[in-house]
Amino acid sequence: MKYPESKLPEIGTTIFTVMSQMAAEHKAINLAQGFPDFNGPQILLDAVATHVARGANQYAPMTGIVELREQIAAKVQRLYSRKVCADTEVTVTSGATEAIYAAIASVVQPNDEVIVLDPAFDCYDPAIVLNGAKAVHVQLQAPAFTLDWEAITAAVSPQTRLIIFNSPHNPSGAVMREADLEKLQQLVAGTDILLIGDDVYEHIIFDGAEHLSFVKYDELYQRSFVISSFGKTYHVTGWKIGYCVAPPQLTREFRKVHQFLNFCTATPLQYALADVMKKQPNHYLELPDFYQQKRDLFNKLMLNSRFSGVPSAGSYFQVLDYSKISSLGDMAFCEYLTKEVGVAAIPMSVFCKKPPSMQLVRFCFAKNDATLVEACEKLAAL
Ligand code: GLN
Repeated sequence: MKYPESKLPEIGTTIFTVMSQMAAEHKAINLAQGFPDFNGPQILLDAVATHVARGANQYAPMTGIVELREQIAAKVQRLYSRKVCADTEVTVTSGATEAIYAAIASVVQPNDEVIVLDPAFDCYDPAIVLNGAKAVHVQLQAPAFTLDWEAITAAVSPQTRLIIFNSPHNPSGAVMREADLEKLQQLVAGTDILLIGDDVYEHIIFDGAEHLSFVKYDELYQRSFVISSFGKTYHVTGWKIGYCVAPPQLTREFRKVHQFLNFCTATPLQYALADVMKKQPNHYLELPDFYQQKRDLFNKLMLNSRFSGVPSAGSYFQVLDYSKISSLGDMAFCEYLTKEVGVAAIPMSVFCKKPPSMQLVRFCFAKNDATLVEACEKLAAL
């Protein structure tokens, strides 16, 4: 028989799987795929066990359990000063990746354009392409990966349906500043352009900066899907649980897709998160210091190396230039690091349509201090 042509001819296996497998095979320290090598809070682990034992093991409501949606709404109000309705504006999803897919699928029509800012997380493009739309790539400005508002404005056309933003930014660690939010409000005012705010690292932001969620701004929120991730916030990336906050009209369409992608998200995880959010509403506030210490330790240890870069402003990633060490391309360099040096990293080029102008790799510093020390010893010897 003849199999159909690939719907994603340009897409291979995601770099996160490729690098984690390579790291495991070669027993390298995995600073590639972004996940902590420490456990989530004990209170959360205990709460899951309790809810599993009491029998909270059947389907949850499609939109998420009301207790969790209410906690999310309370947090949004506390942090971003907007009262969102838990029933009509908050949906619990099986991870942010599901939410991003559902948001894109629910609003793009064939031949619409979606503006994506490179380097861009690797799940955006496939979701756009599978839904018959076109990804229009605009580059962030290296080396700080700031938003190029002239280029973004120039990329807008009558076909622009959606623009995807991500702050704190994966992979670069850049964060959107107040001036960016002003520019964005000016850009979209009077248009029908929708936005995704990929806010999965919203609580991991450094040097006293504040995350500027689209939820805070009327002009932006009315056209936004704001997506976050419990996996990042509670150090439990394998739970694959996140959520989307969007105004009722958008949430209605979002849920039409979500209900047939996943229907609902694991029930005991939802109850456990609702309990812990209620008991420890300030958990989020500890994260900037917690991760800033790790960022600083990593960068201090790397000062003795021939890698260079500016400290990440948010997320748990640090991008570094390796041009003083090797002239290899970034994929080949990451392979070399993993197989010969014993530390896995992610090449920057996988996030870019156009090859990047610098030789950069991304390291994840969401690791125990001992892991960072061991990894940096190897990297600093290069
Ligand atoms: N967000 C994680 C990273 O950037 C990986 C997510 C995934 O593996 N799908 O490393």
